[in-house]
Amino acid sequence: MKALALAVLFVLPGAAHAAAVAQGTQPWPNAVVPYQLDARLLKRAGATRSDCIGWAGWREGAARMACRAMAEWQAATGVRFVADAKRLDRLAIVPGDRTEAMPGHWPIGNSVHIEAGATYGSVLHEFGHTLGLMHEHQRPDRDRYLSFAPFLRDDLRHCIGLTAVCRDVRLSFPIVATQMSSAYDPCSIMHYLSNQTPRHREDPRWGRIFTLTGEGEKAHAACLGQFSRMTPRCAEVGQKCAISRDDAAIVRRFQRVAS
Ligand SMILES: [Zn+2]
Repeated sequence: MKALALAVLFVLPGAAHAAAVAQGTQPWPNAVVPYQLDARLLKRAGATRSDCIGWAGWREGAARMACRAMAEWQAATGVRFVADAKRLDRLAIVPGDRTEAMPGHWPIGNSVHIEAGATYGSVLHEFGHTLGLMHEHQRPDRDRYLSFAPFLRDDLRHCIGLTAVCRDVRLSFPIVATQMSSAYDPCSIMHYLSNQTPRHREDPRWGRIFTLTGEGEKAHAACLGQFSRMTPRCAEVGQKCAISRDDAAIVRRFQRVAS
């Protein structure tokens, strides 16, 4: 998976990227996400209407993956996705150079960008941001569970240049204050893989950016059972296969889904 596919777009100063939710992230009104699928994506999918109805019969691609991801999050959390092109705060699902999403609800300009060649797992991850989730490995308690490679710890402290590496480190790896969280969840779809080679292929150290601590191993062993029927790849920390139980539980709490 392309590393950029995991980047979150932060468009406003102080916007917190968001199973944990960052401070400053807002829930969607009434636990409903109004969405609009870009006409280009619909055309490529062979869709004949502007909403997701019938998506399972569409051609593979961004629109089909977006509709599948929305259906999966809706089933897991009860947050509803409703096609509505008129709302100012509608979620625009559009093609992009990267796969990225804004965290939570904003009064205007909500979007998910999907790049050509994006994987379904990365799209499912981005809709987790849409629903308010932040990256699990950026929680304030992450160092109890992860031991970051020395080079990355150094970069986090000292990287101040405008290089691509510094920008990436400052965007995707600092600790972010939370307003709500489950126990640390190595099974979260919002957790990065340790192998981040595609981010910076010129530097092999990105091939293993963290190892689990003893507590991390325990937390991982405790959550793995939920993926026992999936392929072994889904048992890795940083799985991009499925919404974890804690991901769903935190979204339900944060979005105040009536039970
Ligand atoms: Zn992300």
